[in-house]
Amino acid sequence: MSFWNQFKNWLRGAAAKVFPAIRRFMSGRYGVDQLSLHLLITGIVFYLVSLFTGSYALSLVSTALYIYTGWRMLSRNTAGRAMENSRYMSFFYGTKQKGRQLLLRQKNRKEYKYFRCPKCRAILRLKRGSGTMHVTCGKCKHQFDQKA
Ligand SMILES: [Zn+2]
Repeated sequence: MSFWNQFKNWLRGAAAKVFPAIRRFMSGRYGVDQLSLHLLITGIVFYLVSLFTGSYALSLVSTALYIYTGWRMLSRNTAGRAMENSRYMSFFYGTKQKGRQLLLRQKNRKEYKYFRCPKCRAILRLKRGSGTMHVTCGKCKHQFDQKA
């Protein structure tokens, strides 16, 4: 038998032993989710920045992130972890959407005047130069006059 085949056989044997062991170890544990992935990426970014700046605090933070992520992955309280993840995801998408709206407003601010509904604080817009308009808020139906 060639060395290569021997090596492949050894690898196959090792995998057959290691993978079920990992599966047994991980059974009933939470595993990876989006929050863990984002924490790991943040940890890597912090680590790289700490390498360039020599910041001890940042490398400490990145280590803490790794430990916390590892703890979440191995946690047996899967319901609690899933709850954290869904809370994080709604926060994440909320922030992303706010950022997108802010960019859009920045882009259109010459064309539109943006203002808030005095009652429910929803963001509304009017085409600039259209004078004073009687506005009905699309969200709470509150009516008011707005100059644009
Ligand atoms: Zn309103």
